[in-house]
Amino acid sequence: MARRGKTAAIWVWAAIFAAAALFGRIAIKIWRTSSLAHPGKVLVTGYCNCEKCCGWKRLPDGTTVYDYGKLKGKPKVVGVTSSGKVAKHGTVAADLNYFRYGVKLDIPGYGIGTVEDVGGAIKGRHIDVWFPTHEEAKRWGARWLKVEPLL
Ligand SMILES: [Zn+2]
Repeated sequence: MARRGKTAAIWVWAAIFAAAALFGRIAIKIWRTSSLAHPGKVLVTGYCNCEKCCGWKRLPDGTTVYDYGKLKGKPKVVGVTSSGKVAKHGTVAADLNYFRYGVKLDIPGYGIGTVEDVGGAIKGRHIDVWFPTHEEAKRWGARWLKVEPLL
């Protein structure tokens, strides 16, 4: 009887230990992707003109509209930013409370960008840099970088 109790206790501790290790790994992952772990840096993600990146869809009549968000159902001109500029290399989407339209940014690994666009998921210290293809945008991924506004 006593022996069986001991074995059970070992399994309970093993389970607690495994759960703690798993929780720790998840916590580290969340921490690494949070802005708290990157003071003074900006999360830079890539985007292109595609429906996935810009949240639009094509209607049966061939016109394109916003698929979700505040502008859902409103006409969307693919490849034109919220400020009316044609999206090209150097086009940056930002939270306008953080960086205003027209602000030029030095983005390491990308180059000089200009804030010309916004995005539903782009809030606070997070910007989106434009790429000509979805592949290139995905390859860029998500990077925490020191992004300096050029004055
Ligand atoms: Zn895309």
